[in-house]
Amino acid sequence: MTLQEKVVAAIRNVPDFPERGIQFKDITTLLAKPALVNELIDDWVNRYEKREIDVVVGLESRGFLFGVSLAARLGVPFVPIRKAGKLPFKTVSCQYNLEYGSAEVEIHMDALKKGDRVLIHDDLLATGGTARAAYDLCKKCGAEVTDFSFLLELGFLSGRKRLAGLNAAVHSQVIY
Ligand code: AMP
Repeated sequence: MTLQEKVVAAIRNVPDFPERGIQFKDITTLLAKPALVNELIDDWVNRYEKREIDVVVGLESRGFLFGVSLAARLGVPFVPIRKAGKLPFKTVSCQYNLEYGSAEVEIHMDALKKGDRVLIHDDLLATGGTARAAYDLCKKCGAEVTDFSFLLELGFLSGRKRLAGLNAAVHSQVIY
């Protein structure tokens, strides 16, 4: 089995969660397989160790699960981006539009340095709204986003198009 086939087999698809018509990709079943988690982290390390990444930025909350391990293996800091009001220190924030209304994400104001080469990581790329907001936030801090890394991508939602033209490489382990 390839790594991609193992990931697909380890994900639990939950229909109609959190609302009707959404098929939720439950990664808790994958997290219960330590050998596969190690294989995934090894694959990401191989992919990114030559990219001169300075910081791995993980998106709340499932982007923290692999993001911390990946950053530690690359020997660089891990930095969380969280929903507004969760981070304790001074923050920089960015609003973005959802299907209905808007959301706000934050990063600690001293977490990134000007010119840092950032890898943005999350578990899943859907419409790309969350990843785009994270990109805007990193840019606002003066950093350079060189890479987006996702475990899963829902290709039919065209999130990749939203990240096109940003001069950052986009990689997903599995594209549905
Ligand atoms: P988006 O901003 O539309 O790209 O949505 C991405 C965020 O929503 C990620 O942080 C995912 O964890 C979550 N998400 C969206 N759709 C799903 C899904 N079908 N299954 C699991 N998580 C999802």
